[in-house]
Amino acid sequence: MVTKQAIIDEALRLGFEDVGFTTAEPFESHRFYLQEHAEEYAWAESAGLSLLEGTNPRAIFPKAQTIIVLLENYCRQSFPTPLVNHFGRCYLDDDRITRDGLSLKIKAFRGFLRENAIDSRVPFNLPHRLAAARAGLGTLGKNCLFYAGRVAAGSSWVLPITVVVDRAFEADEATIGMGCPTWCRGACVAACPTQALKGGGRIDPRRCISYLSYFGQGLTPLKLRAPMGLYVYGCDRCQLVCPRNAPWLARNLPVNQRVAAMAPDFDLARLLRMDVDYFQERIWPHMFYVGTRDMWRWRMNAARAMGNTLDPAYIPELAQAFAAEKDERVQAMIAWALGRIGGNEALSALQGLGPGVSETVSREINQALQELK
Ligand code: SF4
Ligand code: SF4
Repeated sequence: MVTKQAIIDEALRLGFEDVGFTTAEPFESHRFYLQEHAEEYAWAESAGLSLLEGTNPRAIFPKAQTIIVLLENYCRQSFPTPLVNHFGRCYLDDDRITRDGLSLKIKAFRGFLRENAIDSRVPFNLPHRLAAARAGLGTLGKNCLFYAGRVAAGSSWVLPITVVVDRAFEADEATIGMGCPTWCRGACVAACPTQALKGGGRIDPRRCISYLSYFGQGLTPLKLRAPMGLYVYGCDRCQLVCPRNAPWLARNLPVNQRVAAMAPDFDLARLLRMDVDYFQERIWPHMFYVGTRDMWRWRMNAARAMGNTLDPAYIPELAQAFAAEKDERVQAMIAWALGRIGGNEALSALQGLGPGVSETVSREINQALQELK
């Protein structure tokens, strides 16, 4: 019968950074938390994330006895600056659709288990950060992220993968708890631009830029447009300011060439003027939380990010995109972006927008003109 050590050796051989074991007992404390904060997480249930179901591994896999948690370091290589300025790092090499990277390692690991007569599941909805801490792999941070204990220089640039198996193995000692140094006075909480972090390891996910960038409804409210800054999809700000992440960020890492090759596709101007074919071929296979029907959200986010660069070089792009754009949410954001960039060139571009625009867009144009004047 395969030993726990043989499983660990195989996971490390396949390139996972660390491995931990915990029981398949329900995550009761997490279930209570989700129930207490039902309003904050209602969107997740409607989006089909089934977080409540995920608190009981046996509801997903009745034969479950152990959860093997694999840690993947998704920042083992660095990413090009233009990408990390606008996208959360964890989405940059996400192969959940293309299935040509991490998925192959998970598949090989499950193949090894199968060869040893162990059945497994990799549910998407287990509380993977809590499972990792219960498996002794690290601790939590006040930004609600999981920090590795033994690898990746103790950083949060790791993705826990939960593999539920039908074989009992000795559980590792849990490391659940907040691992932040006492001298850090909550840099993440202070730095969160949309006040999503509430301190003490609590978050209102509906205020997080990650949520707002791919699930936010309608035209982004005025008060959030500047705070959301340059981010188009996801946000890393609370990780970038964290002293626990500084050692890993200081490393001189080789560039991830696979991601570098797709960087031009994610250029802001291209995103702003992309059509359905471009989106489906170049964007969606890598960042898929927004479907084709909601492509306007990508274009609106790109326009907002362009405005927040304060770079006049984007003015002609924004004006041209406005003329070709049919969606009033994107048109409205383009008007706002021109006002945000400011200056005479932006003023004259704004004066040239319309006529024949909707009331919402007309209001945005007038607002931007007022501010410029
Ligand atoms: S990811 Fe960004 S918006 Fe979300 S909690 Fe962190 S800093 Fe705040
Ligand atoms: S910034 Fe400070 S409080 Fe926030 S997660 Fe990092 S160490 Fe903890």
